[in-house]
Amino acid sequence: MSVMPENESWFTEVWSPEGSAFSLEVTAKLHEEQSAFQHIEIYQTRHWGKLMVLDGCYMVTDKDNFLYHEMMTHPALFTHPDPKKVLVIGGGDCGTLREVLRHPGLEQVWQVEIDERVTRLSEIHFPELCEANGDPRASLLFEDGIAWIKNCQPGELDLIIVDSTDPVGPAAGLFNREFFGHCLRALGDDGLLVQQSESPLFHTDNLIAEMIGEMRAAGFESHHTLPFPQPIYPSGWWSCTLASKGLTVTDFREQAARDKAFETRYYNADIHRGALAVPEFMKTLYR
Ligand code: SAM
Repeated sequence: MSVMPENESWFTEVWSPEGSAFSLEVTAKLHEEQSAFQHIEIYQTRHWGKLMVLDGCYMVTDKDNFLYHEMMTHPALFTHPDPKKVLVIGGGDCGTLREVLRHPGLEQVWQVEIDERVTRLSEIHFPELCEANGDPRASLLFEDGIAWIKNCQPGELDLIIVDSTDPVGPAAGLFNREFFGHCLRALGDDGLLVQQSESPLFHTDNLIAEMIGEMRAAGFESHHTLPFPQPIYPSGWWSCTLASKGLTVTDFREQAARDKAFETRYYNADIHRGALAVPEFMKTLYR
């Protein structure tokens, strides 16, 4: 057992259901407030850059956010044949929006984040994640994504990315069949949905299996869960789930991914192909 030195400060997120915790050494608390939706904290860490915490849960650090943001976006954008209109629900730190906007064929992206304070604080503390916010193709809206999706025109969207917090509080309604049904209607048959789907290690047989059941009940026929590393989230291993009615989500534009005209730090065509491999214990999701 290791003991933390008494003269150092650490932020710890305890994940009680699995008896685990992850800590980062922090040198200053830069901001703290209770917004209308959640408790927001921003820290300076010693080695991971800045850290944002919502309701006691790690959201982003400068050091490792590229893993999550690249995997929430590029696999889906290289799976849809020609994505032009994209909706991001949540995603207030704007890192997902920035990655989406790297795709030159895109015409319009709406980011519907319920808590404007997350975005305003990200503009101050995570300016690199917000560097594409002024792109003329981007619209930043501060509303509940669950209500917003109900008012979309049928078939209006090519891709919906649900970059939400854990399925509690305002995000609870982003994981059920009613919400997925509204997504399916807004997407049309060849549209694609991406949902952040928590830890493969901790959630395959409960949250992920139940979420896929709800997606299928709503009419999504093809689905696949892509694991990727994410050190700050519980278990250090995270996932996104792709779903579609008309597309086979394991087929992607591999040559286009190889020829991509923008830089990434984690995603490439080989990473994409590797992430489609199914670990033995996750095969239950495909029976
Ligand atoms: N990467 C993070 C993770 O997996 O834990 C998610 C980061 S992003 C900051 C999550 C955002 O989802 C939060 O800013 C939260 O306000 C937003 N959110 C939660 N429920 C929402 C809803 N119903 N509509 C729109 N945004 C929502």
